[in-house]
Amino acid sequence: MLTRLTFLLATILASPAAAQGLTQEQRLQATADQVSQQRIHDTVARLVAFGTRHTLSSQTDPKRGIGAAVRWAESEFKKDGLQTLQTCDTVAKQPRVPTPTRVCNAVGILRGTERPNDVVIITGHIDSRVTDIMNVNAEEPGANDDGSGTAAVLESARVLSKQKFPGTIVFAALSGEEQGLLGGKILADYAKAQGWNVIANLNNDIVGNSCGSDGVCNDKVVRVFSEGPRWQGHEALAAQLRSLGGENDAPSRNISRFLDRLAERLPGIGLDVMQVWRNDRFGRGGDHTEFLDNGFPAVRLSVAVENYDQQHQDLRTEGGKVYGDTIDKMDFPYLTRVVKLNTAALMALAMAPPPPEPKVEGAVSTDTHVTWSQVPGAKSYVIRWRRTDANQWQESSTADNSCAPSQSPPNCTGYVDLRHVRVDDWVFGMSSVSKDGWESPVASAVPGGAFKPYVAPLPKN
Ligand SMILES: [Zn+2]
Repeated sequence: MLTRLTFLLATILASPAAAQGLTQEQRLQATADQVSQQRIHDTVARLVAFGTRHTLSSQTDPKRGIGAAVRWAESEFKKDGLQTLQTCDTVAKQPRVPTPTRVCNAVGILRGTERPNDVVIITGHIDSRVTDIMNVNAEEPGANDDGSGTAAVLESARVLSKQKFPGTIVFAALSGEEQGLLGGKILADYAKAQGWNVIANLNNDIVGNSCGSDGVCNDKVVRVFSEGPRWQGHEALAAQLRSLGGENDAPSRNISRFLDRLAERLPGIGLDVMQVWRNDRFGRGGDHTEFLDNGFPAVRLSVAVENYDQQHQDLRTEGGKVYGDTIDKMDFPYLTRVVKLNTAALMALAMAPPPPEPKVEGAVSTDTHVTWSQVPGAKSYVIRWRRTDANQWQESSTADNSCAPSQSPPNCTGYVDLRHVRVDDWVFGMSSVSKDGWESPVASAVPGGAFKPYVAPLPKN
């Protein structure tokens, strides 16, 4: 019965007019329900079958090595009808890339119908490793790290490519992560060079197991890592941050809040978000950091419980313990839930316009004044605020584009006066809402809160 309902919803989704009869949650859930556990399993098995996907392995062997794997990922995007390309660079970086090496990402693009320059990007890394980071020729299955994230990229591409969205979605299988986040940097630099307005990078790295080596298991939670104050521009913003606040309000932190709320809106996926308020796991890294360094909002999704015996390990048995990142250790029902959440998130982000860049004033006043510039594609806005020690937005007020005093429509500065709301006691933010009601993530009205790279103002002279 459930399957039949899902099929019915999927059929209805193909017709935009009929889709208007459904709630957003129903549309998101019906799209997420098209994610196939079997296909995810087959994708991971196919990736493992390349033997090794080490970044320094063969680029030309038709069956084994990183070159064959990247070409295969690109061919999968082609099958989905996406525009495809490889973003490449020749890298030499001691000590992990001793000689100049071609590093290429497979990229698929689902171009937006209304705002093609507004881009959301899902990434996973296709390269793999074992104990010795320079060991090129071992069997290096990389099933969970990061066949799981690559499967999230390919399966969300397959599902979402059947629909059209106002904004663009980019799907990328990145290479060179283990050798130093090389593919992440190549794609982030490409995004910058193209002038993409990156709303979010969802980086999936190790998303396919649910038990640790100590027997602790959790298959109902995914961790989302996000930086607090934005790193890019932080030196220039430090003095303003100290005065105006915003230690907990970089755009990445608001992407994390957005995902947390989305998971709650879609109980049918069966996954809770555990927000971890640091950029990545303790002292460790991932490709999203390269997006952050370019000023783009980015988060890392990862399992609730990592298993350190099953990542970055030579395949072996030692003292009765089996080591290695093999497919039999994975939890595919869990991975499927993570892919569903990603798929729904990409859809929700691509449906909504980008958030505005709100400013607040109100020092030594009983009221708070909020101003913002109009966002193309936004029909209305939501002002949200919360106590400075609260983790989620608490209060809200909808706003049209009422003009600031002495200005007139249509291209005036938006203006709302929040009476009896003291600016000292709250953090404020705003989201944009499309004509059909899709709401963007919130951008906080703090230094560095804007969803675009921070650019220092030119000195006055
Ligand atoms: Zn990884």
